Amino acid sequence: MSHKRMRTDEEPTATIDENDGQTSSTPSSRKPHDRLWFPEGNVVLGTSSYLFRVHKSMLSMHSSVFKDMFESHVVDESKSLHSVDGESFDGLPLVNLLGDEDEDVVCLLRAIYERSFYSPDDDSVPVVVITGLLVLSTKYDMPDIRKDVIKQLSRQYPSKLDALDNLGGNAPIKHRFRHETWAILRAVLKTGVTSMLPTIYYACSGYGMSALFDSYPDFLDFQSLRTILEGRERLLNKLLQVLSTYVNASSDCLIQHGQGRSYVEAVMYDPELHEFIEDNTDITSLSGKKLLEEWPARVCKECKGDVMRVVDEERRSVWESLPYCYELPDWTTEHSNE
Ligand SMILES: [Zn+2]
Repeated sequence: MSHKRMRTDEEPTATIDENDGQTSSTPSSRKPHDRLWFPEGNVVLGTSSYLFRVHKSMLSMHSSVFKDMFESHVVDESKSLHSVDGESFDGLPLVNLLGDEDEDVVCLLRAIYERSFYSPDDDSVPVVVITGLLVLSTKYDMPDIRKDVIKQLSRQYPSKLDALDNLGGNAPIKHRFRHETWAILRAVLKTGVTSMLPTIYYACSGYGMSALFDSYPDFLDFQSLRTILEGRERLLNKLLQVLSTYVNASSDCLIQHGQGRSYVEAVMYDPELHEFIEDNTDITSLSGKKLLEEWPARVCKECKGDVMRVVDEERRSVWESLPYCYELPDWTTEHSNE
Protein backbone atom coordinates (compact mmCIF):
# COMPACT_ATOMS: atom_id res chain seq x y z
CA MET A 1 0.00 0.00 0.00
CA SER A 2 1.52 3.28 -1.03
CA HIS A 3 0.76 6.40 0.91
CA LYS A 4 1.14 9.28 -1.46
CA ARG A 5 0.78 12.73 -0.17
CA MET A 6 -0.05 15.57 -2.53
CA ARG A 7 2.51 18.26 -2.46
CA THR A 8 1.42 21.51 -4.01
CA ASP A 9 4.90 22.59 -5.02
CA GLU A 10 5.38 19.62 -7.29
CA GLU A 11 5.27 19.56 -11.04
CA PRO A 12 2.36 17.59 -12.49
CA THR A 13 3.26 13.92 -12.35
CA ALA A 14 1.64 10.68 -13.29
CA THR A 15 2.30 7.83 -10.93
CA ILE A 16 1.73 4.15 -11.34
CA ASP A 17 0.11 2.68 -8.31
CA GLU A 18 1.94 -0.45 -7.25
CA ASN A 19 -1.20 -2.26 -6.27
CA ASP A 20 -3.26 -2.21 -9.41
CA GLY A 21 -0.88 -0.83 -11.99
CA GLN A 22 -3.23 2.00 -12.88
CA THR A 23 -2.05 5.42 -13.78
CA SER A 24 -3.22 8.13 -11.49
CA SER A 25 -2.30 11.70 -12.13
CA THR A 26 -1.67 14.02 -9.26
CA PRO A 27 -1.17 17.39 -10.92
CA SER A 28 0.10 20.05 -8.63
CA SER A 29 -2.29 22.50 -10.26
CA ARG A 30 -5.17 21.06 -8.27
CA LYS A 31 -6.17 23.46 -5.58
CA PRO A 32 -8.70 23.48 -2.75
CA HIS A 33 -11.98 24.89 -3.98
CA ASP A 34 -12.77 28.27 -2.42
CA ARG A 35 -16.32 27.48 -1.47
CA LEU A 36 -16.34 23.73 -1.06
CA TRP A 37 -13.57 23.32 1.46
CA PHE A 38 -14.95 22.70 4.93
CA PRO A 39 -12.23 22.66 7.60
CA GLU A 40 -13.96 19.92 9.58
CA GLY A 41 -14.66 17.79 6.47
CA ASN A 42 -13.41 14.22 6.68
CA VAL A 43 -12.84 13.29 3.04
CA VAL A 44 -11.25 15.02 0.06
CA LEU A 45 -12.68 14.62 -3.43
CA GLY A 46 -10.40 15.43 -6.34
CA THR A 47 -11.11 16.44 -9.93
CA SER A 48 -8.57 17.55 -12.49
CA SER A 49 -8.48 21.14 -11.21
CA TYR A 50 -9.95 21.11 -7.71
CA LEU A 51 -9.91 19.46 -4.34
CA PHE A 52 -13.06 19.49 -2.23
CA ARG A 53 -12.98 18.87 1.51
CA VAL A 54 -16.42 17.58 2.37
CA HIS A 55 -18.23 15.16 4.68
CA LYS A 56 -18.66 11.44 4.19
CA SER A 57 -21.96 11.48 6.05
CA MET A 58 -23.34 14.23 3.81
CA LEU A 59 -22.36 12.39 0.64
CA SER A 60 -23.63 9.07 2.01
CA MET A 61 -26.99 10.61 2.85
CA HIS A 62 -27.55 11.56 -0.80
CA SER A 63 -25.69 8.87 -2.67
CA SER A 64 -25.70 5.09 -2.32
CA VAL A 65 -22.51 4.94 -4.38
CA PHE A 66 -20.58 7.09 -1.91
CA LYS A 67 -22.26 5.35 1.02
CA ASP A 68 -21.15 1.93 -0.21
CA MET A 69 -17.68 3.20 -0.93
CA PHE A 70 -17.18 4.73 2.50
CA GLU A 71 -18.63 1.70 4.24
CA SER A 72 -16.72 -0.94 2.34
CA HIS A 73 -13.60 1.00 1.32
CA VAL A 74 -13.87 -0.99 -1.87
CA VAL A 75 -13.03 0.68 -5.13
CA ASP A 76 -15.80 0.21 -7.65
CA GLU A 77 -14.17 0.51 -11.02
CA SER A 78 -17.39 -0.20 -12.90
CA LYS A 79 -18.59 3.22 -11.83
CA SER A 80 -15.30 4.86 -12.79
CA LEU A 81 -14.68 5.83 -9.22
CA HIS A 82 -11.01 5.52 -8.59
CA SER A 83 -9.88 5.99 -5.09
CA VAL A 84 -6.32 4.87 -5.32
CA ASP A 85 -5.94 2.75 -2.27
CA GLY A 86 -4.15 4.61 0.44
CA GLU A 87 -3.98 7.94 -1.36
CA SER A 88 -4.52 10.78 1.00
CA PHE A 89 -4.42 14.54 1.31
CA ASP A 90 -3.44 16.13 4.61
CA GLY A 91 -4.15 12.85 6.35
CA LEU A 92 -7.65 12.58 4.89
CA PRO A 93 -8.74 9.94 2.39
CA LEU A 94 -8.55 11.32 -1.14
CA VAL A 95 -11.10 10.11 -3.68
CA ASN A 96 -10.26 10.98 -7.27
CA LEU A 97 -13.41 11.43 -9.32
CA LEU A 98 -11.87 10.45 -12.61
CA GLY A 99 -13.84 11.39 -15.67
CA ASP A 100 -16.02 13.95 -13.91
CA GLU A 101 -15.92 17.54 -15.12
CA ASP A 102 -14.71 20.08 -12.53
CA GLU A 103 -17.77 22.27 -12.85
CA ASP A 104 -20.19 19.34 -12.76
CA VAL A 105 -18.75 18.29 -9.41
CA VAL A 106 -18.96 21.88 -8.15
CA CYS A 107 -22.66 21.96 -9.12
CA LEU A 108 -23.36 18.62 -7.48
CA LEU A 109 -21.69 19.56 -4.20
CA ARG A 110 -23.31 22.99 -4.12
CA ALA A 111 -26.70 21.37 -4.74
CA ILE A 112 -26.04 19.20 -1.69
CA TYR A 113 -24.68 21.91 0.59
CA GLU A 114 -26.51 25.07 -0.47
CA ARG A 115 -30.26 25.07 -0.21
CA SER A 116 -30.76 27.97 -2.61
CA PHE A 117 -28.28 26.81 -5.26
CA TYR A 118 -30.68 24.73 -7.31
CA SER A 119 -34.46 24.85 -7.62
CA PRO A 120 -36.23 22.71 -10.22
CA ASP A 121 -38.95 25.37 -10.47
CA ASP A 122 -36.49 28.05 -11.59
CA ASP A 123 -36.25 28.36 -15.37
CA SER A 124 -33.22 30.63 -15.13
CA VAL A 125 -31.01 27.78 -13.91
CA PRO A 126 -28.09 27.64 -16.38
CA VAL A 127 -28.00 24.64 -18.68
CA VAL A 128 -24.55 23.61 -17.40
CA VAL A 129 -26.04 23.18 -13.94
CA ILE A 130 -28.90 21.06 -15.24
CA THR A 131 -26.71 18.78 -17.34
CA GLY A 132 -24.02 18.49 -14.65
CA LEU A 133 -26.55 17.55 -11.99
CA LEU A 134 -28.31 15.06 -14.25
CA VAL A 135 -25.13 13.27 -15.27
CA LEU A 136 -23.59 13.07 -11.80
CA SER A 137 -26.80 12.37 -9.85
CA THR A 138 -27.27 9.40 -12.18
CA LYS A 139 -23.66 8.24 -11.89
CA TYR A 140 -23.60 8.44 -8.10
CA ASP A 141 -27.20 7.34 -7.60
CA MET A 142 -28.63 10.45 -5.98
CA PRO A 143 -32.36 9.93 -6.50
CA ASP A 144 -33.61 13.19 -4.98
CA ILE A 145 -31.44 15.43 -7.14
CA ARG A 146 -32.06 13.31 -10.24
CA LYS A 147 -35.82 13.47 -9.69
CA ASP A 148 -35.68 17.26 -9.38
CA VAL A 149 -33.69 17.66 -12.61
CA ILE A 150 -36.05 15.35 -14.50
CA LYS A 151 -39.00 17.32 -13.13
CA GLN A 152 -37.45 20.54 -14.42
CA LEU A 153 -36.58 19.12 -17.85
CA SER A 154 -40.04 17.56 -18.18
CA ARG A 155 -41.54 21.00 -17.71
CA GLN A 156 -39.24 22.56 -20.29
CA TYR A 157 -39.57 19.63 -22.71
CA PRO A 158 -43.13 18.43 -22.05
CA SER A 159 -44.54 15.26 -23.51
CA LYS A 160 -48.06 16.72 -23.67
CA LEU A 161 -48.95 19.00 -26.56
CA ASP A 162 -51.10 21.24 -24.35
CA ALA A 163 -48.16 21.79 -22.03
CA LEU A 164 -45.96 22.69 -24.99
CA ASP A 165 -48.57 25.15 -26.25
CA ASN A 166 -48.78 26.69 -22.80
CA LEU A 167 -45.06 27.37 -22.79
CA GLY A 168 -45.85 29.73 -25.68
CA GLY A 169 -43.27 32.19 -26.89
CA ASN A 170 -41.48 31.90 -23.55
CA ALA A 171 -40.71 28.25 -24.06
CA PRO A 172 -37.16 27.76 -22.75
CA ILE A 173 -36.53 25.40 -25.62
CA LYS A 174 -36.79 28.31 -28.02
CA HIS A 175 -34.64 30.67 -26.03
CA ARG A 176 -31.65 28.45 -25.62
CA PHE A 177 -28.52 28.68 -27.65
CA ARG A 178 -28.41 25.65 -29.86
CA HIS A 179 -25.29 24.28 -28.18
CA GLU A 180 -27.20 24.21 -24.93
CA THR A 181 -29.89 22.09 -26.53
CA TRP A 182 -27.24 19.69 -27.84
CA ALA A 183 -25.78 19.55 -24.31
CA ILE A 184 -29.17 18.61 -22.89
CA LEU A 185 -29.60 15.94 -25.56
CA ARG A 186 -26.19 14.47 -24.70
CA ALA A 187 -26.93 14.43 -20.97
CA VAL A 188 -30.34 12.85 -21.48
CA LEU A 189 -28.93 10.17 -23.80
CA LYS A 190 -26.10 9.47 -21.39
CA THR A 191 -28.37 9.06 -18.39
CA GLY A 192 -31.18 7.10 -20.02
CA VAL A 193 -33.93 9.61 -19.30
CA THR A 194 -36.04 8.49 -22.22
CA SER A 195 -39.42 10.08 -21.44
CA MET A 196 -38.46 13.47 -22.82
CA LEU A 197 -36.34 12.30 -25.73
CA PRO A 198 -38.99 12.88 -28.43
CA THR A 199 -39.50 16.47 -27.27
CA ILE A 200 -35.77 17.12 -27.09
CA TYR A 201 -35.25 15.75 -30.60
CA TYR A 202 -38.20 17.91 -31.64
CA ALA A 203 -36.49 20.96 -30.11
CA CYS A 204 -33.25 20.05 -31.90
CA SER A 205 -35.19 19.84 -35.17
CA GLY A 206 -36.23 23.45 -34.74
CA TYR A 207 -32.74 24.58 -35.69
CA GLY A 208 -31.99 24.95 -39.36
CA MET A 209 -30.07 22.43 -41.42
CA SER A 210 -26.91 24.51 -41.46
CA ALA A 211 -26.96 24.91 -37.67
CA LEU A 212 -27.24 21.15 -37.38
CA PHE A 213 -24.37 20.47 -39.78
CA ASP A 214 -22.22 23.18 -38.18
CA SER A 215 -22.54 21.37 -34.85
CA TYR A 216 -21.07 18.15 -36.19
CA PRO A 217 -18.78 16.67 -34.98
CA ASP A 218 -17.83 18.98 -32.11
CA PHE A 219 -21.21 19.15 -30.41
CA LEU A 220 -23.31 16.49 -32.11
CA ASP A 221 -22.17 12.96 -32.84
CA PHE A 222 -23.03 11.38 -36.16
CA GLN A 223 -25.82 9.17 -34.82
CA SER A 224 -27.55 12.12 -33.13
CA LEU A 225 -27.18 14.27 -36.22
CA ARG A 226 -28.68 11.52 -38.33
CA THR A 227 -31.57 10.91 -35.92
CA ILE A 228 -32.39 14.62 -35.84
CA LEU A 229 -32.15 15.13 -39.61
CA GLU A 230 -34.21 12.05 -40.48
CA GLY A 231 -36.75 12.85 -37.79
CA ARG A 232 -36.93 16.45 -38.95
CA GLU A 233 -37.77 15.29 -42.46
CA ARG A 234 -40.57 13.03 -41.19
CA LEU A 235 -41.85 15.76 -38.90
CA LEU A 236 -41.99 18.32 -41.72
CA ASN A 237 -44.02 15.90 -43.84
CA LYS A 238 -46.46 15.32 -41.02
CA LEU A 239 -46.80 19.03 -40.30
CA LEU A 240 -47.50 19.58 -43.97
CA GLN A 241 -50.53 17.32 -43.50
CA VAL A 242 -51.79 19.63 -40.77
CA LEU A 243 -51.57 22.59 -43.10
CA SER A 244 -53.19 20.59 -45.91
CA THR A 245 -56.07 19.82 -43.59
CA TYR A 246 -56.50 23.51 -42.95
CA VAL A 247 -56.23 24.40 -46.65
CA ASN A 248 -58.78 21.75 -47.66
CA ALA A 249 -61.29 22.55 -44.93
CA SER A 250 -61.02 26.29 -45.50
CA SER A 251 -61.25 25.83 -49.29
CA ASP A 252 -64.52 23.96 -48.82
CA CYS A 253 -65.83 26.91 -46.84
CA LEU A 254 -64.57 29.39 -49.46
CA ILE A 255 -66.28 27.51 -52.28
CA GLN A 256 -69.55 27.24 -50.41
CA HIS A 257 -69.65 30.54 -48.56
CA GLY A 258 -67.10 32.84 -50.20
CA GLN A 259 -68.46 36.14 -51.48
CA GLY A 260 -67.57 36.82 -55.11
CA ARG A 261 -65.44 34.84 -57.53
CA SER A 262 -62.45 37.19 -57.58
CA TYR A 263 -62.26 37.26 -53.78
CA VAL A 264 -62.40 33.49 -53.61
CA GLU A 265 -59.66 33.07 -56.19
CA ALA A 266 -57.40 35.63 -54.55
CA VAL A 267 -57.70 34.02 -51.15
CA MET A 268 -57.70 30.44 -52.33
CA TYR A 269 -54.28 30.55 -53.97
CA ASP A 270 -52.49 32.70 -51.46
CA PRO A 271 -48.79 31.91 -52.04
CA GLU A 272 -47.88 33.08 -48.54
CA LEU A 273 -49.91 30.29 -47.07
CA HIS A 274 -47.93 27.72 -48.99
CA GLU A 275 -44.62 29.33 -48.15
CA PHE A 276 -45.58 29.31 -44.49
CA ILE A 277 -45.11 25.60 -44.13
CA GLU A 278 -41.74 25.42 -45.79
CA ASP A 279 -39.21 24.46 -43.15
CA ASN A 280 -41.63 25.25 -40.34
CA THR A 281 -41.08 22.65 -37.62
CA ASP A 282 -43.04 24.54 -34.98
CA ILE A 283 -46.15 22.53 -34.22
CA THR A 284 -47.42 25.19 -31.81
CA SER A 285 -47.87 27.58 -34.75
CA LEU A 286 -50.21 25.13 -36.50
CA SER A 287 -53.17 24.97 -34.12
CA GLY A 288 -56.59 25.62 -35.67
CA LYS A 289 -56.84 28.85 -33.68
CA LYS A 290 -53.46 30.17 -34.81
CA LEU A 291 -54.05 29.29 -38.47
CA LEU A 292 -57.42 31.04 -38.39
CA GLU A 293 -55.83 34.10 -36.83
CA GLU A 294 -53.10 34.06 -39.47
CA TRP A 295 -55.44 33.64 -42.48
CA PRO A 296 -58.85 34.85 -41.30
CA ALA A 297 -60.22 35.52 -44.80
CA ARG A 298 -60.46 31.83 -45.72
CA VAL A 299 -63.11 30.75 -43.24
CA CYS A 300 -66.56 32.19 -42.53
CA LYS A 301 -67.86 32.66 -39.01
CA GLU A 302 -70.11 29.60 -39.13
CA CYS A 303 -67.37 27.21 -40.29
CA LYS A 304 -64.70 28.34 -37.80
CA GLY A 305 -65.48 25.76 -35.16
CA ASP A 306 -65.46 22.84 -37.59
CA VAL A 307 -62.26 23.93 -39.31
CA MET A 308 -60.49 24.37 -36.00
CA ARG A 309 -61.63 20.92 -34.88
CA VAL A 310 -60.35 19.00 -37.92
CA VAL A 311 -57.04 20.87 -37.88
CA ASP A 312 -56.52 20.24 -34.18
CA GLU A 313 -57.34 16.57 -34.55
CA GLU A 314 -54.69 16.24 -37.25
CA ARG A 315 -52.18 18.23 -35.22
CA ARG A 316 -52.77 16.06 -32.17
CA SER A 317 -52.19 12.90 -34.18
CA VAL A 318 -48.89 14.33 -35.43
CA TRP A 319 -47.79 14.92 -31.83
CA GLU A 320 -48.87 11.42 -30.86
CA SER A 321 -46.65 10.03 -33.60
CA LEU A 322 -43.71 12.32 -32.75
CA PRO A 323 -41.67 9.49 -31.14
CA TYR A 324 -41.89 7.50 -34.40
CA CYS A 325 -40.31 10.40 -36.29
CA TYR A 326 -37.18 9.75 -34.25
CA GLU A 327 -37.58 5.97 -34.22
CA LEU A 328 -38.41 5.89 -30.53
CA PRO A 329 -41.06 3.79 -28.76
CA ASP A 330 -44.41 5.52 -28.34
CA TRP A 331 -45.07 7.99 -25.54
CA THR A 332 -46.64 5.43 -23.20
CA THR A 333 -43.69 3.07 -23.41
CA GLU A 334 -41.32 5.96 -22.93
CA HIS A 335 -43.05 6.97 -19.73
CA SER A 336 -43.00 3.58 -18.08
CA ASN A 337 -39.24 3.70 -18.39
CA GLU A 338 -38.24 5.80 -15.39
ZN1 LIG B 1 -68.08 28.68 -44.26
